Order: sequence, then structure tokens, then C-alpha cells
Amino acid sequence: MADRTTTSDAAPALRERLVVGAVSVSPMLTFTVLISTTKSLTAAACAALIAAVAVSVWRVLTGRPTRTTVAVIAGVLLQVTFATVSGDAVNFFLPRLAWMVLWSPVQLVLILIGRAPLGWAVARLRGQPRTWRQCSVRRRAYSLASLLPWSLATLEMVVALWLYAHDQVALLGGTEVVTNIVHLLAFVAAWRIAVRLIGTHDAPDQPGLCGCMAEPGERFAGSR
Ligand SMILES: [Zn+2]
Repeated sequence: MADRTTTSDAAPALRERLVVGAVSVSPMLTFTVLISTTKSLTAAACAALIAAVAVSVWRVLTGRPTRTTVAVIAGVLLQVTFATVSGDAVNFFLPRLAWMVLWSPVQLVLILIGRAPLGWAVARLRGQPRTWRQCSVRRRAYSLASLLPWSLATLEMVVALWLYAHDQVALLGGTEVVTNIVHLLAFVAAWRIAVRLIGTHDAPDQPGLCGCMAEPGERFAGSR
């Protein structure tokens, strides 16, 4: 009996994302708690940096990718710099806001031209060929399904901008923790929608593959 494309075989990868997400959010959470309780920007900034170092040590000890570890440290350094230089705690969230404002339209364009990030993410998680773009059924399915996470991300952006404009540091920090979880759930939901839309188009004995793709067994070595 053919195994259709499912999200269940990627459960370990999704669990890993959840664990990494929960740990990675700790510098931001530490900053939010400290600034709300002590009102001291110096204390909150130092605590956020200490938390970032702790996250990095954990990542190194558990053998997680170095590139992401460097990105975590760099991100927190940037946030702390924005907050301390401006003397305003709310600017800790400015780099993330800038990213959201940039990513929302970029993601929409990628969805509209049939290069939905969801398609790449699913192919990567399941170790499937990146040739999914050769299949019009798959392109359409990933684009349609991506509208869910895109809408949520855009809504999050609007809420975050409003909170930023109203100097709501605690709420900004709090919503970011919640949205981390929402992003993962939206990703899984979008994936399930895509699976439904692709349906029986998958080759019977090769989930994730179909006749549309040239050399279905091979990875796209040329593009990276
Ligand atoms: Zn196809």
C-alpha cells in the first residue's frame, strides 16, 4: 500500500523546530521580563546577552548548526544595541519588526510566482528533491496553502507595529512567544492543506514525487 505524503514522518524534525524555537526565544523573554519588573534597560540588556550566550553554549554542546548559533548571537547583539543606543526598550524589537515588514511582501511575491517557501521547507524536511517546482500541481498546492501562514504573519506584523507605536514592550515580548508557536502550527496546517491539494497526484510508490519531475530520484545538485 502506497504511503501518501504525510506530515507524520516529519514529526522528529518538527519537534526539533519546537525545541530550538523554545530555547531561541529565551533572550527575548528574559529581556521582556527584566524590563517589565526592574524597569532597568541595562539590567534587561545584560540579562538578554547572558541568555544569548547560554543558548549558544547549549547549541554548541548539543551539536546544532554553527551558522544558526552565530545568527542567534548576532541577532540579540543587534537588538541590545538598538535598545541601549536609543535608550528606549521598545527598540529591542525593531530588528524583528523590520524583518517582518520586509518578509511579508517578499513572501507574497514568492507565493504568487510559484516559489512558495513552504515548498522548499517541506522538500528539505522530507529529504525530497527540490524539483517540486517542475510540477504545476505542487506549485499551485504550495502557493494556495501558503496563504494561511502568510496571512497570519501579516496580521502579526500589523499587531506588532501597533504595539511598537504604542510603546507596549511587555505585550510585544509576550506576543512574540505566542507567535513562535503559531508559526509552527500554521506551517503544519499549511503542509496538511498542500498534501490534500496534491492528493493522488503523487506517484503511487514514491510519496512526494510524480511524473512531472525530470529525474525524480535525483536532488537538484545545480541550484542551491
Ligand atoms: Zn506533478
